[in-house]
Amino acid sequence: MTAPALPILDNHMHLNPSGRCLDAVREFARAGGTHLVLVSLPPWSLGVEIGAPDDYRQVFDKVLAIARRVREEMVGVFVVLGVHPAEINGLSGRFGLARAVEIMEGGLEAAREYVEKGAAIGLKSGRPHYPVDKEVWNASNGIMRRSFELAKDAGCAVQLHTESATEEGLEEIAGIAKEAGLAPEKVVKHFAPPMVKICGRMGIFPSVLAGQDAVKKALGEGTRFMMETDYIDDMKRPGSVLGPKTVPKRTKQLIPEWGEEVFWKIHKENPEKVYGIEINC
Ligand SMILES: [Zn+2]
Repeated sequence: MTAPALPILDNHMHLNPSGRCLDAVREFARAGGTHLVLVSLPPWSLGVEIGAPDDYRQVFDKVLAIARRVREEMVGVFVVLGVHPAEINGLSGRFGLARAVEIMEGGLEAAREYVEKGAAIGLKSGRPHYPVDKEVWNASNGIMRRSFELAKDAGCAVQLHTESATEEGLEEIAGIAKEAGLAPEKVVKHFAPPMVKICGRMGIFPSVLAGQDAVKKALGEGTRFMMETDYIDDMKRPGSVLGPKTVPKRTKQLIPEWGEEVFWKIHKENPEKVYGIEINC
């Protein structure tokens, strides 16, 4: 009997029918990628205009339709649905801040239903990565807190898009999660620098951007992390992010030095534990 093949998972990818879409998936698979976490794009990227919470269902259904096509390529796909923190600016400009919050929290509630049906494995939320005024900041923290409450009820994880990670920021986020009743282990910091030890202390789970030296640095601190590209699949911004084959390429580059065992942890054990899923090749 041959030994089972190592799964290789990209923990944060986007796909857009107007981008390379399945072509990018094939590139990922050819490089050795086996599973990906498909994260919902902001509504405007998919041509959906949000005027009410239920409009998010159009976004989510589009993402699920893409996921079905990915599965036909024999690549494992897990879906994460939610809202993008930057939506708060446009929505509050059109509807006022209070209604913007209602709409985004309503979007998260809709996403929770998809999780409960088994169509998605987690929620996406966060807070703006750029400076905003205090009112918008507080409102964004409120939306993030709501995502934690919903995740706690659904027993799922939350992927966070936030400001650049700092020890203070992570500590604050872990505190909000605990107040909401969600274990910080279920909070995945997307686009994370290789801050494996600090995240470990806070309980938050880092999804490390698989750039040149980041994964090496992360491995130097331990194996409690996942890997991602944040591939955005936007033809107008080629090269603005890591390409679809980066996670498998980086993994294979590092195996001779670090061995395969650490990558079984990163690509299988960690995501299985964080999301409550099963990953097999
Ligand atoms: Zn993203």
